[in-house]
Amino acid sequence: MYPANFEYFAPATLDEALEILGRYDEGEARVLAGGMSLIPVMKLRFAAPRALVDINRIGGLDTLCEGGGRLRIGALVRHKTCERSELLKGRYGALGAAAPQISDPIVRNLGTVAGSLAHADPQGDWGSVMLAVRADVVARSAEGERTIPVEELLQGPFTTSLQPSEIITEVSVPDPGRAGGTYLKLERKVGDFATVGVAVHLTMSNGTVEHAGIALTGVGPTNIRAKAAEEALTAQALDDDAIDEASRLAASSAEPRTDVRGTQEYKRNVVRIFTARGLRKAMEEIEKKEQS
Ligand SMILES: Cc1cc2nc3c(=O)[nH]c(=O)nc-3n(C[C@H](O)[C@H](O)[C@H](O)COP(=O)(O)OP(=O)(O)OC[C@H]3O[C@@H](n4cnc5c(N)ncnc54)[C@H](O)[C@@H]3O)c2cc1C
Repeated sequence: MYPANFEYFAPATLDEALEILGRYDEGEARVLAGGMSLIPVMKLRFAAPRALVDINRIGGLDTLCEGGGRLRIGALVRHKTCERSELLKGRYGALGAAAPQISDPIVRNLGTVAGSLAHADPQGDWGSVMLAVRADVVARSAEGERTIPVEELLQGPFTTSLQPSEIITEVSVPDPGRAGGTYLKLERKVGDFATVGVAVHLTMSNGTVEHAGIALTGVGPTNIRAKAAEEALTAQALDDDAIDEASRLAASSAEPRTDVRGTQEYKRNVVRIFTARGLRKAMEEIEKKEQS
């Protein structure tokens, strides 16, 4: 099916893009980044915006770098850029592990991290990763700029706390220090959305867990932070008992539904197994970093 008619704008600056968004009533104009989610939903007529504001010609939004104690992922940083980034593979374990698992090379070439978060698909992989590492997004509107923790951004299926007049300019990830992390994803075939995904991010201090970040994909109405599991790990040695208990708690935080990808019980069990594997992998990474 073809999308409904729309006006198309390709502004060269962020201010111009914000001014165009402001000309339309709430929700009538949409930001276009990679188009990997927006164009399909327009073709299916689930969305019929009056205008698209294509941000791809705006300079300075494609930066992936560290600065001011944080990793900055500009609004036009593609999944592909993250997949190839040595920085992510090394210091940001969960991000580095997730990037190559997002869909297929065609989608990774165009789709953006910020676009994924703005789209808020409960099966989106970046949502869980960013919850686990406690990332924020920086959103600009004609009125100014605000920082939104990803946990507050993701409100429900395909629903965020962004205002229609706001554009995410960057995703901002705290410095991980010597953290370890990973992302485990079960998919029916390469390129599929997650049946289940688990993001783990861990820091240790004096042999005990300092901070744990655990978040789940595809097993709820949005990406879910497994808070009970995180809290149970804090200040504990990461031994088998602690891992078993955290994995059990993560599985009980999941709200899976039976569908073509598997039953509720199956998905909950995958969360349990992946949480345990993820924690062990994160610990291994930390030990490697401490030895180097
Ligand atoms: C076949 C296929 C398979 C896929 N598989 C996976 C998968 O396995 N895992 C996964 O995580 N994702 C998957 N995706 C989704 C993909 O990752 C998309 O790239 C992503 O969801 C949206 O990013 P985008 O840049 O393409 O955003 P767009 O499609 O351009 O926009 C998506 C939404 O976000 C809004 N938006 C975009 N950028 C901004 C911004 N900077 N500020 C404010 N609002 C913004 C748009 O207005 C729109 O509402 C798949 C997509 C396809 C087509």
